[in-house]
Amino acid sequence: MLFKATKICFRVFCQTGIIPNVTAIKLMLLAWMIIHPLTVSAGLGTHRDLLVADQPASPGPARTEVRITYLGTNGYLFETRGVAILIDPYVSRIGLLPAAFNAKIAPDPAQIRSILNRLPKRIDAILVTHGHIDHLLDAVPISRATGAQLVASRSSLLLATPAGATRVRAVAPGDVIRVGRSTVRVLPAGHDRLFGRIPFPGSRQKPGLAPVRVADWICGEPLAFLVELAGHRIYVDSGGTLQTDPPQGPVDLAILGVALPDGRARFAQAVRRLEPRYVLPSHQDNFFRPLGRGFSFGLLTNFPQVRREHAGRHLPGKLILLDYFRPWTLR
Ligand SMILES: [Zn+2]
Repeated sequence: MLFKATKICFRVFCQTGIIPNVTAIKLMLLAWMIIHPLTVSAGLGTHRDLLVADQPASPGPARTEVRITYLGTNGYLFETRGVAILIDPYVSRIGLLPAAFNAKIAPDPAQIRSILNRLPKRIDAILVTHGHIDHLLDAVPISRATGAQLVASRSSLLLATPAGATRVRAVAPGDVIRVGRSTVRVLPAGHDRLFGRIPFPGSRQKPGLAPVRVADWICGEPLAFLVELAGHRIYVDSGGTLQTDPPQGPVDLAILGVALPDGRARFAQAVRRLEPRYVLPSHQDNFFRPLGRGFSFGLLTNFPQVRREHAGRHLPGKLILLDYFRPWTLR
């Protein structure tokens, strides 16, 4: 009952543009935290038929292949011969309570150690879409530990550098950079609204202190990336709105954030423009749960709607899902 009420309230806020006060948001988040574990079953459930994964112990990718490993939230590892690129790695999984109450936070050292043991020793670059904790927080220690170049907006790097990042490269939409034998095109993107507004908005304009609390990790300019490697083109963003279109395709794989209603509203339009061979809806797991508890859909996501839309509107590309740390090779 409370679960349904929370969801209805959220929809009303989104559709009417009514902005609830901070206390109301926190109460709703608390209700969500209490009810959510009781109502959500783990795993891909009835959508398991869309899961793609390599056979266990498959050999590494050939020269013309890209192996893609899902790290949860909007985090991915792209690997081909001689190149490894991370997108938005996030494993610390700050809980809903600290997030709702803007607690002091830091990367979880045990989770960082654990992910480092599962990643290739050499990572060439970490591409970060924006400055929120579920995209940038862990990119800093992973970048330091692996020596990977942290590629992000200027605002995000003005957060990451005082937080400890040392090898950084600021990019903006329109930039084209080389990462090993791959090419990364930096594209404009939008950020979904939550209760009618972008969470933790704004950009850092000049050097400052290291971010301490959740709200210190401000969005900055959201970016999308078109990664060209091993003869394949992979588009990745973390969500967006109807106002910001992805580039004209075709691409081999489109990874599109659908965490919130804005991302889902522009899903069909984005897929039509990108003309992908494969479509991977992203950022739809419950990223407040520890990674070790496995995939479960977030309360505010609506994958059945995404799936219905993809089939009902005859959108291009094969709709697929990935599970945590179960690699799949794009051929
Ligand atoms: Zn965000």
